[in-house]
Amino acid sequence: MSRFWSAGIADLAPYVPGEQPRLDNLIKLNTNECPWPPSEKVLAAIRAAADGRLRLYPDPVSLELRRTIADYYGVAPEQVFVGNGSDEVLAHAFRALLKHDAPLLFPDITYSFYPVYCRLFDIAFEQVPLREDFSLVLEDYDRPNGGIIFPNPNAPTGRAVTRADIEALLDRNRDSVVVVDEAYVDFGAESAVPLVAHHPNLLVVQTLSKSRALAGMRVGFAIGSEALIEGLTRVKDSFNSYPLDRLAQVAAQAAFEDEAWFQRTRQAVMAERARVSGALTRLGCEVVPSQANFVLARPPKPAESVMEALRARHIIVRHFSAPRVRDWLRITIGTPEQNDVLIAALEEILA
Ligand SMILES: *Cc1c(COP(=O)(O)O)cnc(C)c1O
Repeated sequence: MSRFWSAGIADLAPYVPGEQPRLDNLIKLNTNECPWPPSEKVLAAIRAAADGRLRLYPDPVSLELRRTIADYYGVAPEQVFVGNGSDEVLAHAFRALLKHDAPLLFPDITYSFYPVYCRLFDIAFEQVPLREDFSLVLEDYDRPNGGIIFPNPNAPTGRAVTRADIEALLDRNRDSVVVVDEAYVDFGAESAVPLVAHHPNLLVVQTLSKSRALAGMRVGFAIGSEALIEGLTRVKDSFNSYPLDRLAQVAAQAAFEDEAWFQRTRQAVMAERARVSGALTRLGCEVVPSQANFVLARPPKPAESVMEALRARHIIVRHFSAPRVRDWLRITIGTPEQNDVLIAALEEILA
């Protein structure tokens, strides 16, 4: 608290990211990063762009990258917005599209950045409880609202809804924006991008941080109708005209051009997810069926003590203190070798 702060800053409750400890030999399963390095083609593109041109500002509208993403998803470049991580894209969506008189709706157990943005931008919100088994039932959102946002798959549960269910929601909810945060969609859920063609109030947000191993480059994007994208661009150009640096733009473009790397790694994550889920179940954990690159598991011993016992073995997982999930741990899917170490450690801890 400082007397130099602007009004309201003392009342903010900032988002707390998963820790990034500086420890060697760490098995880091706490922030849903990709366990493998990015594609060699991405690294080569970054090296090729690291030269004297860095003295020049980057393309403020990232046109080449937006064309690449547009081609990949079969939309027009005018329907693509890019930002410095999808957290920034989401921030602009909250500011540009989701601030209205009626409350914004999102699940009670979900990405904890949503209430943070609501407080930052002074947006009224209501949290809609997930069902007992953590399923997201979109009929529960049939009420007056100034917008709806949910991740699909949801975080930290990993559960997904179908594209048909999202389309039905869009048919019932035509007068406010629906944002689908697809940070984890590449690990087995159905993307809502094809619905954008017929639903001008749908915004789909994705990131290169998880399925494309580029958390360190900070690139996210949104796909929606031209009108929604123009709203985001107005906020972006009132905030930071050059959100993506030169290296991020070429890295992201190269990532979309290496489809073989993308398919190989996402299939490997899904195969390991099945194996880890099976092992956790055998060890007495309750495991929520996941379509993401993590699983939410309730161990047969107190979750925080299991987390501490894993940490003593240099394995970091994520625990949330919200009442409905405080008995659970969110575990990112690692490499097969990391997962072997995790399973062996849990065999000891839960014995
Ligand atoms: C990781 C994550 C994001 C943000 O990713 P960026 O690294 O900012 O692109 C957004 N939404 C959800 C649900 C996430 O888990």
